[in-house]
Amino acid sequence: MISVIGAGPAGSFYSSKVKDADVCLFEEHTQIGRPVACTGILTDSINRVTRFPRDLIINYVKQFKIIAPNNKATYIDLKKKNYVIDRAGFDQHLFERAVDNGAQVHLGERFTGYKKTRSGYQLQTNKKKYETDMIVGADGPKSAVAQAAGLYGKRQFIKGWQARCRFPALEPGVTQIHLNLGEFSWIVPENEHIARVGVIGADTARLQQDYKKLLGNATILEDQSGIIPLYNPKQTLQKDKISLIGDAATQVKATTYGGIIYGLLAGTYLSENPATYQERFNNKLGRDLWISLKMREWMNTMNEEQSNTLIDIFQKKHNIDILANHDRDFPSKFIVQLLLKETSLWKLGFDMFKNKLFSRKQ
Ligand SMILES: Cc1cc2nc3c(=O)[nH]c(=O)nc-3n(C[C@H](O)[C@H](O)[C@H](O)COP(=O)(O)OP(=O)(O)OC[C@H]3O[C@@H](n4cnc5c(N)ncnc54)[C@H](O)[C@@H]3O)c2cc1C
Repeated sequence: MISVIGAGPAGSFYSSKVKDADVCLFEEHTQIGRPVACTGILTDSINRVTRFPRDLIINYVKQFKIIAPNNKATYIDLKKKNYVIDRAGFDQHLFERAVDNGAQVHLGERFTGYKKTRSGYQLQTNKKKYETDMIVGADGPKSAVAQAAGLYGKRQFIKGWQARCRFPALEPGVTQIHLNLGEFSWIVPENEHIARVGVIGADTARLQQDYKKLLGNATILEDQSGIIPLYNPKQTLQKDKISLIGDAATQVKATTYGGIIYGLLAGTYLSENPATYQERFNNKLGRDLWISLKMREWMNTMNEEQSNTLIDIFQKKHNIDILANHDRDFPSKFIVQLLLKETSLWKLGFDMFKNKLFSRKQ
């Protein structure tokens, strides 16, 4: 038996794909997909990973408006629209696919630990003990499986404060990204009046202040905040017959903190061959996750003036074209092109390097 802990997108998707095995899917909540702690933006690359019902698409992002601290903005018309999905519905859909694939489900049952036995593991939940051959930890950022297996490492987290809000008026196809609030922040419309509004950061005092500014006169309908693990390039994904996927394995890209597609890909690789999972994941996706992490580290050193310069650079047509045509989930595909075409990025990078050195000395 394979015990999968956590019926989020990674755990359910893995359970829907694994073949010729008895799967037990454990979820601590009694309802799938709730509470929501996600903006639910997916790039078009989701279509290369899986199909999903179109009625789960709440809105399409056609354009990004990236706003600098001096209020200058650049507009990026996406060649391939992004999806704003019903995240709870998406999780429920993947869960149904797991059930269709034969997974036995245990809702309201929380993994609390395991013991190694001669033939495998004895899994402990808040309700019962189970004998199992393999454990998959898909139990999110604070993964109890990773902790129990000694795979947790020195992981770091970032706070994502988000609310579903009502506004007097919104442009429904335009997602706003503010570079001066939090590490970055967003307003993602569902329609002309409702948007998912969020800010990311580590410093609570700054988050409070920036979140207030971002919300403006909006009315909060639902809080959707959560924590996000920072990708750890040294994260071990497996130990004996225990594997980690998704947020439990810190598989989140640090530029925009999206993790759904990476979690689904991890689930696919593990379901296809557990023996090659770690190597395949690192070979296929490790470089993009690492580049995203480095981009984030650099972006976090930017001062206001440099953020303004960045927007000036991205107001140039040839740079907008590169961003509009490439998938931000896989930055290795466009970062080289940008660096080759835009020499002022090198200067900006050098200035940011000086910021980094300076902040280390302080
Ligand atoms: C504010 C915010 C906005 C975000 N926006 C986006 C976005 O737009 N696009 C994107 O791609 N990503 C986004 N993310 C990240 C995305 O939500 C995660 O990467 C994704 O949910 C990871 O899926 P997962 O299945 O690995 O983990 P989770 O979705 O966290 O699922 C883990 C599951 O395990 C269950 N569980 C936990 N512990 C136990 C236990 N001990 N026993 C049993 N069950 C347990 C949980 O209840 C949960 O159902 C956002 C995150 C935040 C916080």
